[in-house]
Parts: sequence; C-alpha cells; structure tokens
Amino acid sequence: MKIGIVGLGLIGGSLGLDLVAKGYEVVGVSRRLSTCNTALARGAVTRAGTEMGLLDNCDLIVICTPIQAILPTLEQIVSSLSSPCVITDVGSVKGVIVYRATELCPHFVGSHPMAGSANQGIEAAVANLFENAPCVLTPISQTSPQALQTVSAFWQSLGSRLHFTTPELHDQAVAWISHLPVMISANLIYSCTQIKDKEVLSLAQLLASSGFRDTSRVGGGNVDLGLMMAQYNRDSLLASLKQYRENLEYLISQIEGENWDNVRAFLSLCQQQRPNFL
Ligand code: NAP
Repeated sequence: MKIGIVGLGLIGGSLGLDLVAKGYEVVGVSRRLSTCNTALARGAVTRAGTEMGLLDNCDLIVICTPIQAILPTLEQIVSSLSSPCVITDVGSVKGVIVYRATELCPHFVGSHPMAGSANQGIEAAVANLFENAPCVLTPISQTSPQALQTVSAFWQSLGSRLHFTTPELHDQAVAWISHLPVMISANLIYSCTQIKDKEVLSLAQLLASSGFRDTSRVGGGNVDLGLMMAQYNRDSLLASLKQYRENLEYLISQIEGENWDNVRAFLSLCQQQRPNFL
C-alpha cells in the first residue's frame, strides 16, 4: 500500500513514523525541503519532496497541513493526480473543510485524530501518537461509502478509536473540550504575566510545578493552531467562552459573598463530573 502525507509536521510526521514502521511505502510532501530531509532522516517517510506529483498512484493521501492550507492543498493534489484517490485530512475543524473538500474530490472523507502535543514541526513527531486515541470521522450525505471504509480501516490500523458524527456536531463538541481549553489555558498564562509585584512574580515562576504544567500546557502551545481554532470555529468557541464567563462570574460572586457552601457544591459537582469526560 502506498500512502501519501502532505504537511510533515507533528501530526504528519507522527503518522509517517507509524506507517513506515508497519512497512508501508510512505511518500511525504511538505513546503520546505529541509522538513522533507528531516522526515527522511527520522524514518517518517520512505520518499519525500516538495512536489505534489510525488503523490501519483497513492492508495490514500492524508492532508496534515495547518487548517487554512487544507483546501488549497486539496485543490493542488486533485489537479496533479493522474487517477482519483481516497483523500482525508486531520484538521481540527470540519465544517469549513468537509463540504467544499467533497465537492473538490468525490473520494474525500474528513477526519480528526484527537491526539497531539504542545509542540509543532517534524522534530516533535512521535511514534504511536494515535494508539488508543479517539479519531472522529465526519461523513456527509455525499461521502463515498468505499472511501469511508478505506479511511476507517486506515485509522483503525493505527489503533485509533473511531467515532462518526456530522461536521457541525464535531465542531460544537471540540469547541468545548479542545478549543475552549486552549483559550482558558492561554488566559491563565496571560493572567500570571500580569502579577504586578516583581517579587511575587519571580516566586510564582520558581514555584510553578505539576498543577501549572497541566493547566498551562494547551495554552502555551502552537500559536497558529490556537488562532485557527478561533477563526474557523468562531461561533461554537464564542458560545462556550460566554458560558465559561457566566460560570466564572458566578464563582467570583460566591467567593466575594463568602458563600462557602455554594463554592463547595460547585467544586464537588466538578469532581463528580470530570470522569465523564475522560
Ligand atoms: P505543525 O506541526 O505545524 O505541522 C504542519 C506542517 O505543515 C508544517 O511542518 C509545514 O511543513 C507543513 N505545511 C504548512 N503549510 C503547508 C503547505 N501549504 N503545504 C504543505 N505543507 C505545509 O502542525 P500540526 O500540529 O501537525 O497540525 C497539522 C494539522 O493537524 C492541522 O490541520 C491541525 O488542525 C491538525 N491537528 C493538530 C493537532 C495538534 O494537537 N497539534 C491535533 C489534531 C489535529 P514545513 O515545515 O515544510 O513548512
């Protein structure tokens, strides 16, 4: 089986490491030649270059570029292939991609592997990133059943746990559990930078440990990805941010009013509910 990966960064490179380890022929295309060479050196591809023509005769192509480059990349791929091919993407939003992509390519299926890290680029690629991680597939009424079958089998072969939903429901759900956390976590870091007393600020920087590491991880990561989550999933993200603001105002008012029973009830509910999300 010959698999093409376009965009050899954290996700594309990690995919490549697993696929090469499984013995597939893996052709990588990326924007910069230096990235292609690093991918080759790391064993994330068996062949790589900057030309889409390398992807001819692939059985499956996975687009792993930043969100804003997915549709332009798909257009380029479609116009350079001599025969049709099943194509999927890994973009963190689906609504703005899947409908147009299916018009451009009748064998397109939208995917979103729910796996990653705060790092980016080919250097950050790791093996087994998708093992046991959820992967969302977002077929629409025009999606080819055969293409869906191929893409499902592909992610399952990497150990992903498949979920099927619409692009709209996907975008609403990930706004809550992925895009909102990025903004909250970023706001946490930003708020800490505003500590006015210099002595307190340096002490806080010295004392920050596992709690701060966990809560700041997603807010201190890939800037472009966070920005694109806001740009391309704006409405759903705004809805979750506004609910968050309401809850924050409630919490402030309860602490100001020393309503400790309410604060306890709030924290207890959160303690009970957390396992339902993990
Ligand atoms: P990344 O580490 O920054 O990698 C993206 C790679 O795409 C870059 O290394 C860049 O390669 C390449 N690229 C950029 N523009 C390109 C273009 N026009 N044509 C070809 N290659 C191009 O980002 P990532 O975290 O892997 O994210 C990639 C995709 O995965 C995004 O759509 C994101 O929404 C999705 N995703 C990310 C995560 C996560 O946690 N990071 C999780 C799930 C899904 P060069 O070095 O050659 O410029």
